[in-house]
Amino acid sequence: MRVGMGYDIHRLVAGRKLVLGGITIPFEKGLLGHSDADVVIHALCDALLGAACMGDIGTHFPDTDAQYKDISSDFFLRRVNELLLNNNFAIENIDITILAQAPKLLPYREAMHQKMSQILALASNRLNIKATTAEGLGAIGSHEAIAAMAITQISTIQK
Ligand code: MG
Repeated sequence: MRVGMGYDIHRLVAGRKLVLGGITIPFEKGLLGHSDADVVIHALCDALLGAACMGDIGTHFPDTDAQYKDISSDFFLRRVNELLLNNNFAIENIDITILAQAPKLLPYREAMHQKMSQILALASNRLNIKATTAEGLGAIGSHEAIAAMAITQISTIQK
């Protein structure tokens, strides 16, 4: 068994769509980034890569590479899952916390859950998604950013 953790934060700006956990969420601002800036999937990819001792999302998908400009982060999660499978790792469970003052994320939680478990071909009882506000404190509390944390346990597939 191995564990990995991931964290990501992106700035909220006008004129971008908000994508979290692979789902486009109606909101007056979106996250700024080279890709679609999906902090949830970015944190999850870093947790999975961390558990597998395979670096981080930035080394696999550099934001200086034009092929990743505005790309859907679904692509990163698919690739990371392939990397794990190719190295004989299986995901035991994933726990995610999203930190956002707004919008309310509860109405989108099931869709995010479905989307990410489908990409990972993961049983639904192995993925948990939580959301919390920052109680109005700091950059997240003042609607300047959204962050996400992910932790995962993976195991080696016995052959
Ligand atoms: Mg990121």
